[in-house]
Amino acid sequence: MSTSPDHRELGMNRPIARRDFLNGIAIGVTAGMSVLSGARAQSATAEDDPPLRAGLRGNYPAAVAEFDPILQGKYAQSPVSNTGINEEYDLVIVGAGISGLSAAYLYRAALGDGAKILILDNHDDFGGHAKRNEFHYQGKTFIGFGGTMGISTPYPYSYCAKSLIRDLGVEVERNPKFINRDLEQKFGLAAGTFFDKEHFGEDRLVKGNPRLPQFFAKAPLSDAARKDLIRLHGKNVDYMPGMSTHDKRAALAKMSYQDFLLNFAKMSPDALPFFMGAGGRNNKRVDTTPALEAAEHGLVGFNGLGLELEQEFNESSYLFHFPDGNASIGRLLVGRLIPAALPEKQSMDTIVAARLAYDKLDDPNSTTRIRLSSPVVRVGHEGAPDRSQWVNIAYRNGGKTCGVRTRYCILACNNALISALMPEIPARQKEALAYPVKVPLVYTNVLLKKWTAFQKLGVARISAPCMYHPNTFLDPGSTVGGYAGVTTPEEPIIFHMTANPNKPGLPRKEQNRHGQQELLSTTFEQFELRIREQLARMLGSGGFDPAEDIAAITVNRWPYGYAYTYDTLADPDVPPEQRPHVIGRQRFGRVTIANSDAGAAAFTNQAIDEANRAVQELLLLQGLT
Ligand SMILES: Cc1cc2nc3c(=O)[nH]c(=O)nc-3n(C[C@H](O)[C@H](O)[C@H](O)COP(=O)(O)OP(=O)(O)OC[C@H]3O[C@@H](n4cnc5c(N)ncnc54)[C@H](O)[C@@H]3O)c2cc1C
Repeated sequence: MSTSPDHRELGMNRPIARRDFLNGIAIGVTAGMSVLSGARAQSATAEDDPPLRAGLRGNYPAAVAEFDPILQGKYAQSPVSNTGINEEYDLVIVGAGISGLSAAYLYRAALGDGAKILILDNHDDFGGHAKRNEFHYQGKTFIGFGGTMGISTPYPYSYCAKSLIRDLGVEVERNPKFINRDLEQKFGLAAGTFFDKEHFGEDRLVKGNPRLPQFFAKAPLSDAARKDLIRLHGKNVDYMPGMSTHDKRAALAKMSYQDFLLNFAKMSPDALPFFMGAGGRNNKRVDTTPALEAAEHGLVGFNGLGLELEQEFNESSYLFHFPDGNASIGRLLVGRLIPAALPEKQSMDTIVAARLAYDKLDDPNSTTRIRLSSPVVRVGHEGAPDRSQWVNIAYRNGGKTCGVRTRYCILACNNALISALMPEIPARQKEALAYPVKVPLVYTNVLLKKWTAFQKLGVARISAPCMYHPNTFLDPGSTVGGYAGVTTPEEPIIFHMTANPNKPGLPRKEQNRHGQQELLSTTFEQFELRIREQLARMLGSGGFDPAEDIAAITVNRWPYGYAYTYDTLADPDVPPEQRPHVIGRQRFGRVTIANSDAGAAAFTNQAIDEANRAVQELLLLQGLT
């Protein structure tokens, strides 16, 4: 740990709850943190309750340590039978994310609770991207989301996905009753934008609506940039005069938003840093978002073009957010699959406070078992895939390679690993599986001891276009399931910060690869320093002291984040059935493929729909549909 005077001022030498885990074993614990009273918290420790582990989470190093050896073929040649197979299942599911858990739920719904199912996952917690972060501090529990947050989508949920969510006792229509959004109203807080000195000449936090002329008047911008930003955020002229609507759309689909702003809207390059954190769907940026998508997304510059833009799906009815995000969906699913882990049948009213018994997840007495910290390294049929009766699976656990055999298998893991797990699959399928590159992301939760600095500055959320975490906000939590949320500025609160590491200028997939590598090689200490510096610079004028005011930090790094989605700029326009994800997800013998990767869409409903397809394919194979 660095102890230079600057770093000491930022608090790098202060004891906080951070992750000091080696190979999943806690070697150092929180200082200044107390485990408290409260229904859930009484006996919980980071040892037996993974959500309590702070520091580096998400795809933390030990969880993904086997990915490179798998991809490099380390396990390809050794037969799984060498591992001494000593367990048999009806179904083994690789991956305990929303897709894997849903697959188990749907398989049991079709074939009954007697089916013997094993779910294997490489992390020490289930849920995949649906990750709960929990802090116990000063007698209270603070819950945050470490990954997927909202039950939302740009298009309506399928009947299957809707029914599953409803069967779990989640009624999204009750959303307004629970969401604690009055912080801004109650304290007169607004949005803020942080302009950094490296890109804008000085550090300055500007409060107010970043679309209005009075906002730009206060921002540190060159005259040209200010004039252009005011122009673009107002009523635009037609920046593509003389072109038909059809031709405009075709041209916009093939250029980036950045190229549109610079070359057609003639924006000064000085203004570009203001758009650095902005883009279209799936965390695309100004240089990777097709201009047409930016227009459909409601970004500025297009209202004089006379485009007839498609109405985006109104997602309000699905914008429900548990304090731990969709980890509650994962926990509800686990409760249905393994009742001993969550004894009472939980619903949206009880799940947040419910204590889950992790020691019951892999209980031999349960027909469904979840085995954590168990990366699967090889999957292969016994004999020819079309005639085989069994699939063998090798996985790592506690430093050993272990084996199980199963009648059927669903791969609900990252699809990019599948070719290496099953080298026998056809070359065309392998090529298709290699096409997408997952989007890297960081969801950081900082437990602040108080948020008086925010109150003083009058902001609840700060966008910082050119800082490491461009999107940041106070997360008071929803008032649901016995969780009260936060109300007064003297109370501790979670400050949520998100980042999308990339490398502007490169093609999108290259940027994703670059971001993945960056995340895989960044230490917790490096993250911590960036976080403290950013907080100090954004909030220092409000009296924020990074050395004093931070109680705990959890960085959820997701080098393997969102599923890859196609766009008109980066991907060839091919018929839907020829898309790589469709070719890649074909059944191979007794193995079917789920995960949101298989739907090329990074949404909860897609994870459920792909689970449903993978289950249906197995039922068809068994002659059961
Ligand atoms: C930061 C973030 C925020 C998001 N926010 C939202 C949101 O608000 N709303 C929304 O709808 N969607 C959101 N998403 C998209 C989210 O990915 C999906 O909603 C969904 O949770 C994906 O579930 P999944 O099961 O398909 O994949 P995952 O969640 O990735 O689960 C797959 C699991 O398989 C494991 N695995 C991989 N390889 C192996 C192996 N060899 N052996 C064993 N296990 C393996 C993985 O590590 C993982 O645990 C978000 C995603 C991220 C990363």
